[in-house]
Amino acid sequence: MAGITVVGAGVIGLTVAHELAAAGHRVHIVAARDAAASVSAVAAALWFPHDVQHSAQVLSSAGVTYDRLMRLSADPATGVRMRSGTVLARRPDPDLSWTSAVPDHQRVSGSRLPAGASGVRCTVPVVVTGVYLGWLRSAVVALGVRLSTAPVTSLAELIDGSGSDAFVVAAGLGSAALLGDDDQAYPIRGQVVRLANPGLTEWITDDDNPQGLTYVVPRDQDVVCGGTGDVGSWDEAVHPQVEAAILERVGALVPALRGQPVLSRAAGLRPARTSVRVEAVAGHRKPVFACYGHGGAGFTLSWGDAAVVTRLVGA
Ligand SMILES: Cc1cc2nc3c(=O)[nH]c(=O)nc-3n(C[C@H](O)[C@H](O)[C@H](O)COP(=O)(O)OP(=O)(O)OC[C@H]3O[C@@H](n4cnc5c(N)ncnc54)[C@H](O)[C@@H]3O)c2cc1C
Repeated sequence: MAGITVVGAGVIGLTVAHELAAAGHRVHIVAARDAAASVSAVAAALWFPHDVQHSAQVLSSAGVTYDRLMRLSADPATGVRMRSGTVLARRPDPDLSWTSAVPDHQRVSGSRLPAGASGVRCTVPVVVTGVYLGWLRSAVVALGVRLSTAPVTSLAELIDGSGSDAFVVAAGLGSAALLGDDDQAYPIRGQVVRLANPGLTEWITDDDNPQGLTYVVPRDQDVVCGGTGDVGSWDEAVHPQVEAAILERVGALVPALRGQPVLSRAAGLRPARTSVRVEAVAGHRKPVFACYGHGGAGFTLSWGDAAVVTRLVGA
């Protein structure tokens, strides 16, 4: 078994480290920031392959992750909940390829949906990020993984200065700069506002809303309300006028949210790429593997892609 350094401690780095350690490797995570201070902490985080190409690999990883998260939901301490909800579609030919990974789903239409919309009702995992990322970090530590907080400025220096046998770059939006061979990665800015939960359990997403991307994801105490999908924007600030527009849209979609107190607000940059990158990367002094570019689907693909990395490392 090998010594492996994973760069990144967001949902992807932690999950990859978990699976490598579970396979018997000695794993060290190096990350500039803890998961709680990463994009992963901003996510909604509903199981759905959003802002990623629905390739066969993505759908396979989404299916593996669905199953794993469903099993984890049996223990409330993980922060994973199985929740029913609706994916709205406002086009005549919506891409429903993702339903292949969801055991329980059905097409719906009618007067309870916005005019002209159809939808798919299904039950999927919803991850309470604050609870889950803490649980995942503890699970990783329990498997013997070592964590260090430090920025990596040069992958070559990390390789030369570390005794590890192999390296996994799972640094989200920081990955392309570290690898230096990728011009296909870009941010998609997302802003959310979290409201007090008036008792909702059902989530709803309305990507094609003519007023703008809209979603409502109830967690335990709060409801994540979004959102925006600003392609190419590096702006991490929360903008009050954007929040006002989000509140208007979610109030129209779910009237019970009108007037609910704002508990917190956030903006984050989804680490997008023309396609998710999970592969061995040639040209380094030791084996290097990439696992990044998960767009708006890092939670949705995490366990599946961690399994792929573990297979690549073990090969
Ligand atoms: C508003 C919003 C809503 C979302 N909703 C969903 C959803 O409903 N479902 C879903 O599945 N996904 C959702 N996402 C997407 C999800 O958050 C991301 O896909 C996921 O967090 C990516 O995880 P990551 O570990 O790759 O990146 P990050 O969480 O960004 O973690 C990157 C890690 O790498 C480290 N790092 C970066 N550069 C370096 C460096 N040079 N040296 C050392 N460390 C470095 C960072 O410090 C951090 O630890 C949403 C995102 C946003 C912004």
